[in-house]
Amino acid sequence: MLADLADLLLRARCAGCRGPASGPLCADCLALLGAPPHRSRPTPEPPGLPVVHAVAAYAGPLPAALAAFKEHGRRALAPPLGEALAAAVRGLLAETGAPLEEGLLLVPVPSSRSAVRRRGRSAGGELAAAAAGALRRQGVPARRAVLLRPTRQVADSAGLGAGERARNLAGAYAARAGGPRGVVVLVDDVMTTGASLVEARRALLAAGRVPVGAAVVATTRRRRPPSVGRAGRPAGPRAAPDATTVPPWHPTGSVVALVPPRLREQSRRAG
Ligand SMILES: [Zn+2]
Repeated sequence: MLADLADLLLRARCAGCRGPASGPLCADCLALLGAPPHRSRPTPEPPGLPVVHAVAAYAGPLPAALAAFKEHGRRALAPPLGEALAAAVRGLLAETGAPLEEGLLLVPVPSSRSAVRRRGRSAGGELAAAAAGALRRQGVPARRAVLLRPTRQVADSAGLGAGERARNLAGAYAARAGGPRGVVVLVDDVMTTGASLVEARRALLAAGRVPVGAAVVATTRRRRPPSVGRAGRPAGPRAAPDATTVPPWHPTGSVVALVPPRLREQSRRAG
């Protein structure tokens, strides 16, 4: 009921850009979600990543729109986000050519237990169900299949680099044995480093299910490695791998390359 009330109060504003809108999103933000699906690869591409298709960049108004759906309970965003995810699934199917006689299973990447508790619902599950509904309306025999669950609590991945995310998530999911037959596609809202898709695929393979790929609404763009200010030299190859996600002030990130060697030595001794 609270979510309905929030929808009512916010109805006149676009959840993405906050501009005037007759629905949950304005025409411009809807157009971003209506872009053609494309193959997306993070840099660096982690080993074990399935083929991933996406429709949009996690930039501009999209982070706000996805947060409104996931964190602030704006369920009216499920249809447009579900349509976008469905388009990414179709892009994947067009590339892989998987036979769909036994149906298509959209398997949501699990959220952490704490996120589900905080939100009071499984936003990822709702998104998968919305995408499955959109696909069925287009004649694709799709349904949501909750085959994955978290096995343990993981640290919040915000601010973690690619390697740290992978270590944080290793062994974090388990797949249900058995389950319905059909072609398995992993679905999620956003791909950042790809670590959660790698772990989700690993868990499915361990249970004998082979996903044909993954589909997401949006992917983060790779940030350029930071350059050294005064010296004007680039920050060197060691800084590059985590440059996708680590903010420059993050202590474990690429900022290490910017610290003069003498200070680095001191802080190593201190730590
Ligand atoms: Zn908008």
